[in-house]
Amino acid sequence: MTTYVYPFSAGSMEQKDLLGGKGANLAEMTRMGLPVPPGFTITTEACRYFMHHGDIPAGLTEQIRLQLIGVEEAIGRRFGDPHEPLLVSVRSGAARSMPGMMETVLNVGLNDETVHGLAAMAGGDERFAMDSYRRLLQMFGRTVQDIDADLFEEVLDRQKAERGVATDVELSAADMARVVEEFKAIIRRETGEDFPQDPHEQLHRSMLAVFRSWNAPRAIVFRNAERISHESGTAVNIGAMVFGNLDEDSATGVGFTRDPATGAPGIYGDFLVRAQGEDVVAGIRNTRSLPELEQVMPEVYAQLSGIMEQLEEHYRDLCDIEFTVESGTLWMLQTRVGKRTAAAAFRIAATLVEEGTISAEEALTRVSGAELTRLMFPHFAPDPGRRAIARGMNASPGAAVGPLAFTNEEAEAAQRDGTPAILVRRETNPDDLAGMIAAAGVLTARGGRTSHAAVVARGLGRTCVVGVEALEVDEADGVIRLNGEIAARRGDEISIDGTTGEVFLGAQPVEPSDVARYLSGEVTVEQAAAGEAGELVQAVHLLMGVADRVRRLRVRANADTPEDAARARDMGAEGIGLARTEHMFLGDRRPLVEALILAATPGERQVALDALLPLQRRDFLALMQEMGERPVTIRLLDPPLHEFLPDITELSVRIARAEEHEGATEHDLRLLDAVRRLHEQNPMLGLRGVRLGLSIPGLYGMQVRAILEAEALALADGGAPRVEIMIPLVSSVRELREIKQELLAVRDDVRRESGQDLTTTIGTMIELPRAALRADEIAQEAEFFSFGTNDLTQTTWGFSRDDVEAGFFFTYRDRGILLISPFESLDQFGVGELVRIGTERGRSTRPGLKVGVCGEHGGDPASIHFFHWAGLDYVSCSPFRVPVARLEAGRAALLEEEFTPQH
Ligand code: PEP
Ligand code: MG
Repeated sequence: MTTYVYPFSAGSMEQKDLLGGKGANLAEMTRMGLPVPPGFTITTEACRYFMHHGDIPAGLTEQIRLQLIGVEEAIGRRFGDPHEPLLVSVRSGAARSMPGMMETVLNVGLNDETVHGLAAMAGGDERFAMDSYRRLLQMFGRTVQDIDADLFEEVLDRQKAERGVATDVELSAADMARVVEEFKAIIRRETGEDFPQDPHEQLHRSMLAVFRSWNAPRAIVFRNAERISHESGTAVNIGAMVFGNLDEDSATGVGFTRDPATGAPGIYGDFLVRAQGEDVVAGIRNTRSLPELEQVMPEVYAQLSGIMEQLEEHYRDLCDIEFTVESGTLWMLQTRVGKRTAAAAFRIAATLVEEGTISAEEALTRVSGAELTRLMFPHFAPDPGRRAIARGMNASPGAAVGPLAFTNEEAEAAQRDGTPAILVRRETNPDDLAGMIAAAGVLTARGGRTSHAAVVARGLGRTCVVGVEALEVDEADGVIRLNGEIAARRGDEISIDGTTGEVFLGAQPVEPSDVARYLSGEVTVEQAAAGEAGELVQAVHLLMGVADRVRRLRVRANADTPEDAARARDMGAEGIGLARTEHMFLGDRRPLVEALILAATPGERQVALDALLPLQRRDFLALMQEMGERPVTIRLLDPPLHEFLPDITELSVRIARAEEHEGATEHDLRLLDAVRRLHEQNPMLGLRGVRLGLSIPGLYGMQVRAILEAEALALADGGAPRVEIMIPLVSSVRELREIKQELLAVRDDVRRESGQDLTTTIGTMIELPRAALRADEIAQEAEFFSFGTNDLTQTTWGFSRDDVEAGFFFTYRDRGILLISPFESLDQFGVGELVRIGTERGRSTRPGLKVGVCGEHGGDPASIHFFHWAGLDYVSCSPFRVPVARLEAGRAALLEEEFTPQH
């Protein structure tokens, strides 16, 4: 029979997939001999069974009962015992952390009888027992029975108002007993049933609520944003309750073994005396900083800091923890390798290398391209005159500017308008996730650096400032007030600095990051080291060095102009993987292209081509000179010709208007004729790529002549250009054979005319499924391959690359059919399979065939790992993404053994 339940004493941190992150780490801490309340984990497998069958697997209930007996024995109390009841917590815990996304029910096991037993155990503290009971009713009502949380809050608020007190702590035992009765009445009224008195029923239903919360809308939104599979399910952890709200010697808190915002060493966190865990993270009460615990409970603090040190040593990384102190006894409720900002990730990785804890290679695996991207974001330009209107805590770095938004809907609307907002909330909760994703930054009035807003914003890479206590958020009136005065209204622009915690009115000017300036070669590492972000730049420098040393993939850039080429080179590009020549046909050259398209005779066509030739030669020479000895891949003209002609409607209107007056020009009439002639229902599947080369005599010949003459000039000038000519949109070897005849003849001519020994190679793009499947034949003619994964994705899925991301993609994503657009991150199973097949077949004909990729995926971290795995030689991406590609290519080499293609 399948085991669905494991005691904490039986697992380890390796079992995250089965036990979830929280369960695996609780087991690990138990193994380490740390004080963890006894408990057990119901596996993710049980959750998956429940999701598929709508019911729990046979035997689960019995296994839970058995493990519960184990907990009873370990703690010496029985579940449901009226005198000394065992109470348990029921917490979710997926394989990958989803903070605050799923449900938790605490104090399970309390009922009208056991509540008095609990009071007796707490030395007759009826208030404490009633408070615990009302928390259970509240959490059970909300999560298990789906009752509006506000109904409970209103009762509490009313009770406080009647008593004239500000906080829950000031309510008496009798007040709490009244709250309990009112909560029970709410449950009865809203559900038609009494709150279940049977502890086993409470436990069972709480577990089901956790299972169900896996598919709550906010959890789905979160998984989409984090690219977590919807299939894996959550584990459920059942642990003996310990109470941080028992007495003045009790407390609860969260902590980090280093500063998760900057990576600086030293214990870091928040705690509250006489409180339960959710009080700290909810940001409802203002917390105290963890080092202050030393004054309040010196012995506990010494033990806790020792454990934190032990955890960091054991996990060899920054850990975060949750703990509770019950009457002076410390209990560890959770640990995991902690989330951190991008800056902290780099600094901690580099520090751990310096401290000798991990190798430089391992340090590289601890950071990511996504984090590097974040570090390359700009920050506010220094301005001594600028005055912050308020200051809070710097929860997630960066500079964010945008219109003020109060709700998810407003933030999403602003994003659609192309001006992402600053989402301002009193405090955030998981329902605000959609707004946080859509926003440029998040600002809250309450909460600390470990509050929901802070944790989630860091995870999303959103700039975030929390705990601006002077701030009053009035969503109803659409204003924020500072000390009673209106400071800004809905839609007004504000700026927040997640690095300093400052808030400014208006759109403040931003400037580039030091990391970006270093990575683009604008400043040297030595110059940057003297600056404010010196340690960070040094950490980046160290890890980029490791990446460049270990990576097998080369990194090139897509660049069409000498300026782009220079930028790419400064960013570390080792060549140009794609120069799109169509961009050289726009602007003031458009009339020349029009003349080419309108040419009625071979003579007219030749005149047009002759006019374009010297211009193209100049373009190519400039690119070659910029790149020196690095390879430059130039692609012959690709897009449908009508893209160079006016829009048919505009042209028709112009002609109609002209005809009312002096009559249309001959030129316009010929243009209209051409536009009509070239019109296609599906231009992306039409006359483009090699089909143009084969249909318009002399076009590709002119381009190739320009390339080769430029190469000859560069050679004559003492250069050593490495030029690669690339044919787009090939599907059959015959196309390539045909066009190559023309090109080779030109090459012979230019060789003879210039007397230079041209080394140009001729290769092809592989961007149609047929080309990938027939790659063995195609490699007979092609000297290299470059996968055009943009078109390959378009033609493999049958999705229009220009439309899908604004269209039904969102429906697909919401329904879980696609987690991410296949145009953003390679579809490894489908399109990736064609890349793999194409490479393998190409090399079966031509061993050692050079294979690269030049679609957008060349700069996407997950895709880069796939290309490494598939054995490609290089990726080519936009210049700004080159550093990220270098870093990820290094990580791909180090992590190759763990790689398998992903959905
Ligand atoms: C591609 O299709 O992936 C490609 C690089 O070419 P383009 O985007 O210019 O069609
Ligand atoms: Mg293409």
